[in-house]
Amino acid sequence: MFIGHLGVGLALKRADRNINVGILIFAALFFDFILGALVLLGVEHVVVPANYRDLHYLTFSFPYSHGLLAAFLWSTLALLAAERVWPKGKQPGTRIPWIIAVAVFSHFLTDLIVHVAEMPVAGARSYMLGLGLWNHLYAALVLEGLLVVAGLTLYLKSAGNVGRPAKYGMILFMIFLSASAIIGQAISTVPPGPRALAVVWLVQAIVVAGIAFWLDRERPAVAA
Ligand SMILES: [Zn+2]
Repeated sequence: MFIGHLGVGLALKRADRNINVGILIFAALFFDFILGALVLLGVEHVVVPANYRDLHYLTFSFPYSHGLLAAFLWSTLALLAAERVWPKGKQPGTRIPWIIAVAVFSHFLTDLIVHVAEMPVAGARSYMLGLGLWNHLYAALVLEGLLVVAGLTLYLKSAGNVGRPAKYGMILFMIFLSASAIIGQAISTVPPGPRALAVVWLVQAIVVAGIAFWLDRERPAVAA
């Protein structure tokens, strides 16, 4: 899953308009960012199934980036790190660390729907979770599209001081990302190699979150 995570990040802006949505989107993509780093380090692994042309999805060994226990630990770390930036008791930032932690953990829950049973509870040899919606590819892609539409709707209601060009920019950006991701997964027959994929996951999280951050930046009202 890729764009579904963006939908969750966008939606969480509704919880507190004082946080830039770029941070929430990076948080929602964080596990794939870690996955990219760990694949490059040889700690986690991506497998291209022999029948990829029929499946249109990859399989993974990723206990440290996508396991249930790991998800709790990464979300807790994100909470503690964010509490240093937005300390308790200082309005209006009090809830922001929790919103970031929820964004981080949401990756596990949304991935759980689409991945086959390959997301371990605690460690590579533990019980594997995954509802496998990718086996019904079009349903999975529709779900991702709906998550983006819902997230964008909530985002636009709460984008506050952001000007109209930025709001339209975010809509166009999401349409572009959704179209490329959905069409890309639906028609792809030959995936890139694991190292290239890992670099994509690393760069994609930074670039997508960076552009969203820029589009969501607050600006002062223009004086008449
Ligand atoms: Zn993931």
